[in-house]
Amino acid sequence: METGKIGVTTENIFPIIKKFLYSDHEIFLRELISNAVDATQKLRTMAAVGDYKGEIGDTTIRVSVDKKKKTIKVSDSGIGMTREEVDKYLNQIAFSSANDFLDKYKDQSSAIIGHFGLGFYSSFMVSDKVEVITKSYQDGAKAVKWSCDGSPEFSIEDIEKETIGTDVILYIDKESKDFLEEKKVDQLLKKYCKFLPVEIAFGKETEWKDGKSVETGKDKIINNTKPAWTLKPADLKEDDYNKFYHELYPSGDDPLFYIHLNVDYPFKLTGILYFPKIKSNIEIQKNKIQLYSNQVFVTDSVEGIVPEFLTLLHGVLDSPDIPLNVSRSYLQSDSNVKKISSHITKKVADRLNDIFKNNREEFEKKWDNLKLFIEYGMITEEKFYEKASKFSLLKNTDDKYFTFEEYEKIIKDNQTDKNKTLIYLYSTNKTDQFTYIEKAKNKGYDVLLLDGQLDVHLINQLESKLKDTRFVRVDSDVVDKLIQKDETRESKLSEEQKDDLKSVFNVKVKSKEIYNVVFEALDENESPVIITQSEFMRRMKDMSAMGGGMNFYGELPDSYNLVVNPNHQIINNISEDLQIQEGKKLTENNKEKMKIKEEITFMEQEHKKKKPDEISQLEKDDLEKLRKELSAVENTRKNILESYGAGNKVVKQLIDLALLANNMLRGEELSSFVKRSVELL
Ligand code: ADP
Repeated sequence: METGKIGVTTENIFPIIKKFLYSDHEIFLRELISNAVDATQKLRTMAAVGDYKGEIGDTTIRVSVDKKKKTIKVSDSGIGMTREEVDKYLNQIAFSSANDFLDKYKDQSSAIIGHFGLGFYSSFMVSDKVEVITKSYQDGAKAVKWSCDGSPEFSIEDIEKETIGTDVILYIDKESKDFLEEKKVDQLLKKYCKFLPVEIAFGKETEWKDGKSVETGKDKIINNTKPAWTLKPADLKEDDYNKFYHELYPSGDDPLFYIHLNVDYPFKLTGILYFPKIKSNIEIQKNKIQLYSNQVFVTDSVEGIVPEFLTLLHGVLDSPDIPLNVSRSYLQSDSNVKKISSHITKKVADRLNDIFKNNREEFEKKWDNLKLFIEYGMITEEKFYEKASKFSLLKNTDDKYFTFEEYEKIIKDNQTDKNKTLIYLYSTNKTDQFTYIEKAKNKGYDVLLLDGQLDVHLINQLESKLKDTRFVRVDSDVVDKLIQKDETRESKLSEEQKDDLKSVFNVKVKSKEIYNVVFEALDENESPVIITQSEFMRRMKDMSAMGGGMNFYGELPDSYNLVVNPNHQIINNISEDLQIQEGKKLTENNKEKMKIKEEITFMEQEHKKKKPDEISQLEKDDLEKLRKELSAVENTRKNILESYGAGNKVVKQLIDLALLANNMLRGEELSSFVKRSVELL
């Protein structure tokens, strides 16, 4: 037996490594099995090129747990190692690379180190002792047993072994005894080894016999050695893709689309990305894409590797060119990774474009589900926007779909305003905004339905991308003013009459909302009172609600316009009734007001004739008094008008109807509206 010291400079680096790699202990199994897979594939290659002339029998890699002995064993029938190779790979290279690793990263945070895999060496994270029993494929090679207890001391001795290949036996330490649970090992194998290209057996198949489950003699194979992404697209049907999807995600609907990636140059990348069906917003989950390196699972947090918006997709990516055992921040700055990222974006866009071109009907059917991904992509990725703007769709309130280009053509003639701006009308809720949509349609306008989660952002983006374009929600103004044309309509009421009615309609509706009464001369068949909310104000509030930083607007109360139509008969009736009821008081008030105003004008002129220092204090006081009187008289008028308004059931009724049309009349107000309506009938 030979003993020796492993070539490391630190006296005992195992405890340090154990501590550093704490969070990722479980990767030891992945590392050992990857080595076994490599060794097996190497042997197959040797045989294929004639360097190995022996038989290749069963190459299944066997994993077993012995709870009594507290060991985990991984056995392969690969190329094995000669004594010299054991010395070279396990004593020198493996340990010196571990040492390099420590040297390089000792100053950095453990978060970075947590993402490293250390190959064979990682088995010491969970073991007191590791044994390797191996026999090389080379003619006449003798089997050897290497053993190391975690200190830099190792032993190596000859041993009997019948078949070529390697057994690695881990003597699991106390802290890691969880790994001796079959369930745990099974779970790890499924996580990391599910798609490895060599069969891996763990335990035996079971079957039902006489009412209980018994083991059969057959090995239980835990992996699918030929996952769909490694096959040629030409050999796969839609069904195969769906089947593979369910293999990855056992619960869930069929995906909407898949994209099979197969890149050789300038980097190697294969994979299948799926657009999942999303039923509700809550379901959106990131980190469903799994990243593999030659079929070995690496991670399912792919941020930084795929573009942000594609993290919403599902599926697998497999690339030996992505440097896997490095930190995330390193990954993000890696030029290979950047290339891969932009390549995936391009592929996804191209594939969507193909589906759109070849089967528009199908594409439209899936659009509502697809839209979130595409909009997210367009908003966050300039390159994707360029491509997606050709196939991204807009849906109108009649459920018809248009590309941006098609839609522009449709609305160009009728929806260009006097400033040559093209106005896109939209609704965010077909039910709530029904009346407004109807009015717009009656005017020959088209109304889009933009009810998606990201539509507010999309609107902002389209306004900046499409030339001379503005998006206006149907309820943000009266229909005549949604798209301002050159036509103006006469008002049947004079400015004075309108001024009075302004106070009449200035009834407090709800305390927390602000209503500005404004007059718009509309068609006499338009509603008498309409409630609108300015596009700007609403958007700012929406953004603030979504955490867009517009806090200032978020804190403002909701403010609406109460638009009164002076051309409607009922409004004219109210104006007449006001004269009948309060005409006398109002006329008197007016006379008084005129009188005071005249006096003020006279005095002001007198004062102008003098130099400022010639005006006596008395004169100044007189003028001040008159001004106060004027405002008192004006206040009186306001009070007359407001109390008339408050007592006028029709006024209240009109306001409530407008609120009702806007879906804003609720609770107590709604119930008193109903009562009043009955009374009025
Ligand atoms: P890596 O796999 O990254 O090269 P490891 O530390 O895991 O690093 O392994 C070091 C070397 O030991 C391998 O490159 C391989 O030559 C050899 N080796 C490890 N495990 C086996 C095995 N099961 N069969 C044959 N050779 C092995």
